Amino acid sequence: MAFINDNYLELQDSYLFSTIAKKVNEFVAEHPEKKLIRMGIGDVTRPLAPAVLAAMHTAVDEMGQKETFKGYGPEQGYDFLHQAVQSYYEQMGVSLETDEIFISDGAKSDVGNITDIFGNENIIMVPDPVYPVYVDTNIMSGREIIYLDSNANNDFLPLPPTDLEVIPDIIYLCSPNNPTGSVYNREQLTAWVKYALDHNSIILYDAAYECFIHDASLPRSIFEIEGAKECAIEFCSLSKTAGFTGTRCGYTVVPKSLKALNSDGDEIVLNKLWLRRQTTKFNGVPYIIQRGAAAVFTAEGQSQIKENIKYYMENARIIAAAMKAKGIEYYGGDNSPYIWLKCPNNMKSWDFFDYLLNEIAVVGTPGAGFGNNGEGFFRLTAFGDRNATIEAMERFKSLNF
Ligand code: PLP
Repeated sequence: MAFINDNYLELQDSYLFSTIAKKVNEFVAEHPEKKLIRMGIGDVTRPLAPAVLAAMHTAVDEMGQKETFKGYGPEQGYDFLHQAVQSYYEQMGVSLETDEIFISDGAKSDVGNITDIFGNENIIMVPDPVYPVYVDTNIMSGREIIYLDSNANNDFLPLPPTDLEVIPDIIYLCSPNNPTGSVYNREQLTAWVKYALDHNSIILYDAAYECFIHDASLPRSIFEIEGAKECAIEFCSLSKTAGFTGTRCGYTVVPKSLKALNSDGDEIVLNKLWLRRQTTKFNGVPYIIQRGAAAVFTAEGQSQIKENIKYYMENARIIAAAMKAKGIEYYGGDNSPYIWLKCPNNMKSWDFFDYLLNEIAVVGTPGAGFGNNGEGFFRLTAFGDRNATIEAMERFKSLNF
């Protein structure tokens, strides 16, 4: 009989969203008359931009003509999309070569799959609370994980530790952060890059929410920081940027100057390893989708997606205003689509979940589901419909606490 990867048995069951769904279904069955407002799951609600649709329609037609039909494409993406992403980075002052950009079917896949090119002996550091994929994918390969406290004392923006007995080889950072909505400034990110360079660590930087940063002083890419190309890989996504959660497209930047050691102590270029990994195990993103993705980076596409981002950020403003009105401590919402609030009266995350559901039929996400430091906190998302967001916050303001 075959053997399993025992590490999978170490994974904690992901109860968060299934428990939310169960509680919500029970509530709806008991109170069919109540209008439920969902502000929990981080999916988007605005449709694809017209420029994206037009590009995909054209690409569909191309697939139907012998002269323009496309078969197997390059697994790492078409060059037209590499060039579009390259110009996007240029606007941030970051210069990349097109073969440093890998087109993916979204950030989750690459954030998880990148673990393939690193040895299992690496010590991994992840902030707590955190996007659960960083933790679970490393548990799957049996790596040691150390947690970095992200809490109210550091404004949910932990800086490099000074008191650790072990040095992390790989560090996950996410900014703007899911779930806390916090965003590293230039100085803080510079401290991380310096730490990584000083300790030969690699930063896996998740910038899936970079498009929500409108404060020009905040970095949207880690490569805006000097030295980052020697210590970081960046993951981006069109999911939240352009409503691609169902369409699926993202990109990962692996600089050619980034190296790590083999077991003989020789420096190996990671870009080459990732290319080898992707061309072996990944089929690439469909041509039609890549054409739609390229349209996101055109002037027309950018102006259309910015309207959607503005829409979500107005929702975030409405949620934040309600928190202020109720005197609730909260984080995020300025340059991110998440509001991370401290549950009133020292309530625990799940108690507050039940309270909001039962009192005002509003669904959020208990912070405890993202790690130990999430206990006592709660996440609301700005990805909902405007009227529903307004109504949810009116109901919230009517609560007695
Ligand atoms: N990274 C973070 C921090 C996220 O919150 C999410 C989705 O919620 C992802 C990555 C996944 O993005 P994608 O849809 O591109 O796979």
